[in-house]
Amino acid sequence: MAKHTQHIQVLSRQQRCDPPLPLSFWMEEAGGLPAATRIGTSGHFDHIIIGGGFVGLWTALHIKRRQPEASIAVIERYRCGAGASGRNGGSVMSWWSEIGGLLAIGGREEATRLAHASQDAIEAIESFCLEHGIDAQLARGGWLWSATLEDHRDAWAAVLADCDRLGHMPFTLLSPQDVAVRTGSPVHLQGILEPGAVTLQPARLVLGMRRVALEQGVTIFEDTPVTHLQSGRTVQVHTEHGVVTGDTVVLATNAWAAAIPGLSRLIVPVNSSIVVTEPVSDLLQASGWTGDEAINDSQTMVNYYRKTSGGRLAFGKGTGALSRGSHIDGTFGRHEPSLRLAEADLRRTYPQLAQTRITHGWSGPIDRTHDNLPVLGTLPGTDNIHYGIGWSGHGVAPSYLGGQILASLALRQRDEWSECALVNRVPRRFPPEPLRSFGGNVIRNAVCRREAARVAGRTPSRLDTLLARLAPGANHP
Ligand SMILES: Cc1cc2nc3c(=O)[nH]c(=O)nc-3n(C[C@H](O)[C@H](O)[C@H](O)COP(=O)(O)OP(=O)(O)OC[C@H]3O[C@@H](n4cnc5c(N)ncnc54)[C@H](O)[C@@H]3O)c2cc1C
Repeated sequence: MAKHTQHIQVLSRQQRCDPPLPLSFWMEEAGGLPAATRIGTSGHFDHIIIGGGFVGLWTALHIKRRQPEASIAVIERYRCGAGASGRNGGSVMSWWSEIGGLLAIGGREEATRLAHASQDAIEAIESFCLEHGIDAQLARGGWLWSATLEDHRDAWAAVLADCDRLGHMPFTLLSPQDVAVRTGSPVHLQGILEPGAVTLQPARLVLGMRRVALEQGVTIFEDTPVTHLQSGRTVQVHTEHGVVTGDTVVLATNAWAAAIPGLSRLIVPVNSSIVVTEPVSDLLQASGWTGDEAINDSQTMVNYYRKTSGGRLAFGKGTGALSRGSHIDGTFGRHEPSLRLAEADLRRTYPQLAQTRITHGWSGPIDRTHDNLPVLGTLPGTDNIHYGIGWSGHGVAPSYLGGQILASLALRQRDEWSECALVNRVPRRFPPEPLRSFGGNVIRNAVCRREAARVAGRTPSRLDTLLARLAPGANHP
């Protein structure tokens, strides 16, 4: 039972003015954002989910699967898929690379269970697409985690040691020749492969999920920003167009959750940016890369790349650029300095593409936590407002689990999901603004200088090396 009513800000005054993020290549390829379903002005629902990305839509679909008669509304500020879910790299990996973090929060048994569940999520997503006729261009090429600099050799040593200790080895060690062939690039020194990982076209997946949710009777309100909640036995969800009420509410607003006072210090929104080339199948085939691997390097400002189904190269970089006051502003729409960094690394990684045209580029927000793992739970002082944020650039497969966990919380089911180690954990917090932006920029600039020095074969300064160690997360977009 809620203890007292609270006014909970969901969107800050400044965020209200932010324009929608520009479309990604994926959303264009998928035919653009569909026309808005409905605008949320009134109504009562058993469950209201705020945010129409993977997390919000999986939550709705999991609730429907378990309780078909439940009335559910998804309320989306713009259109479903307009956030990170329609603009990511489309690499679909398990959480085995995060096994160290999972062990720290859950211990041996729970960490193993969650890592296996994240692996199973990949197959579940594929089955969902098959069942519902969603052509998400899924390609089974595995995930190749590589080292491109001497300092990054064996970056995965601790992960492999943990997997070994747990008796499950999802990675295969590759020979240098195999790495060269599987990446089509001369810069990779070493690599390991998670064969069960896939790539997909994320906008097609999120739009397919939206269609299925509508078919299953979920009400989707689009172009409907939620401004604040009034907690209580029935939660009032205030939007820019009216008030909708729900017995339970799920907050699935990714980096936008930085505006929610109870959640703001759990995440920091950071930039990740992707450039896409014109079709280059011939050039990539000629360099030996005939597979469909999703590739990452081991930089803190990680590079991640894959082919598109049309033979283009999509090359992303987690540049870590921060916005002022953690607002989801132009830093996360099309951030030119970040796009230039991504393009420069593409040209360095694939010198054979020196003359290739870049046809698309966009940026997006990452809801980074300190340990790269999400935080889910129930807002303090309430028993019916739940949240799932902090996917840290590794959310395509894990968001499926997130939906299972949030569905259990919303349905008050005590099970392996609502009681898992990710729920109501107390993670390390980021400092409040303006300290966060100031400190974050100092650290991020040190990371940039350290990585530029290493790439140029110079030794980074000791100060930059020390500061860069404070950066949260690595190896993910
Ligand atoms: C550039 C980039 C590359 C990435 N690459 C990968 C990758 O290769 N592999 C991987 O696993 N992960 C990747 N990720 C991360 C992945 O995309 C996310 O973890 C995943 O999509 C999370 O989904 P979500 O539902 O939490 O977020 P979102 O899709 O952002 O959904 C949140 C939604 O909430 C809505 N919203 C916000 N505030 C309000 C409000 N007040 N009222 C109503 N609606 C609101 C937003 O408009 C948005 O649509 C990447 C992310 C980015 C940005």
